[in-house]
Amino acid sequence: MKKLGENTICTHIGEIEDKQFKGAVSPMFLSTSYEFLDVDVKRYPRYFNTPNQEYLSRKIAALEHTESAIIFGSGMAAISTMFLAFLQKGDHLVVQNTLYGGTVNFIKEELPKYGIEFTFTKGYEVQDFKKAIQPNTKLIHIESPSNPLMTITDIKSIADLGKSNGILTSIDNTFASPINQNPIDLGIDLVMHSATKYFGGHSDISAGAVASSAEHIDKIWNVAKNLGGNLSDMTVWMLERSMKTLGLRVKAQTKNAMKLAKWLHKHPKISKVYYPGLKSHPEYKLAKSQMKGFGAMLSFELHEKLDSYAFQKELNLIKSSMSLAGVESNVISPHLTSHSLLTQEERDTIGISDQLIRLSVGIEDLKDLKEDINQAIAALT
Ligand SMILES: *Cc1c(COP(=O)(O)O)cnc(C)c1O
Repeated sequence: MKKLGENTICTHIGEIEDKQFKGAVSPMFLSTSYEFLDVDVKRYPRYFNTPNQEYLSRKIAALEHTESAIIFGSGMAAISTMFLAFLQKGDHLVVQNTLYGGTVNFIKEELPKYGIEFTFTKGYEVQDFKKAIQPNTKLIHIESPSNPLMTITDIKSIADLGKSNGILTSIDNTFASPINQNPIDLGIDLVMHSATKYFGGHSDISAGAVASSAEHIDKIWNVAKNLGGNLSDMTVWMLERSMKTLGLRVKAQTKNAMKLAKWLHKHPKISKVYYPGLKSHPEYKLAKSQMKGFGAMLSFELHEKLDSYAFQKELNLIKSSMSLAGVESNVISPHLTSHSLLTQEERDTIGISDQLIRLSVGIEDLKDLKEDINQAIAALT
């Protein structure tokens, strides 16, 4: 078949044809019990192969330009199962220093129990990863753009580093989504997502996914069926519904974010903006070379005289809420949420100040977002 465009993949790939009634959308199969005699596949929800699970994984694989995918009950179920599928006792993992907090906790709190060693890199340059490699390194894991400062890691160079050392590479592609970045095309072996974010996109679904070759996904499946982090079929069906508009949503959000970043960059009460689409971003050129769009996540620092807590209280349209990537814009203070467990000194070292606000840009009209930010600032001055 001719290569389909991404919006066509979003709408059509991985649909279950309703042969009985000819309905327009996939039927929902809620059975937890399937016939096992005279069938090719023994289906069961925790085998990750109910009809809805199996078909939706095709959509995700197609979007990530790979053969196969597997869907989980959360992003953490996806990442933990992926790590445990490729790492065993005595193995070593190299991970980027700036990572999603839940992933850091999983690595630090769980991997030692399995006798798996790990090293956090000192920075996110290729050299930093090279230095962290040991003879027993089996996996290198990266995140780009990373939370909350939107640092960009050189994906192709990391993939090459892995290949030349016989080490698998994985990426958390949640922030970019496959609409803005396809790491498989750059040589990465495993791509994971918190589908709670852009895939779901309406702040009402918890899910996760890994996309890779059929061989790697089989390996992950072997562990997944033992750990049992599967998603319910009702939620799989809702995720399929959400993903039909993934391309439209993410493109609209990315466009808004680009314009908002430029506006914030010039704003007299904003001292700094972190967005890979701005020429002032240290890895702007790298981002431009490896991303199709710069994404819809950005961070900014309020002028030192403005209280960041009060600013968030004053916002009307933009909610101060956890999570990200919904069609509605929201903000968080990293020092009060994701990075609250670090000491002030640790936060200073990685550049997370009390003035930093992370903004997940939604699909609202740009003028209303600007107005909300302006009125909140005005209320403080
Ligand atoms: C939210 C998130 C996760 C974890 O996903 P859950 O669905 O909350 O388990 C992992 N990585 C990134 C970048 C995230 O934003």
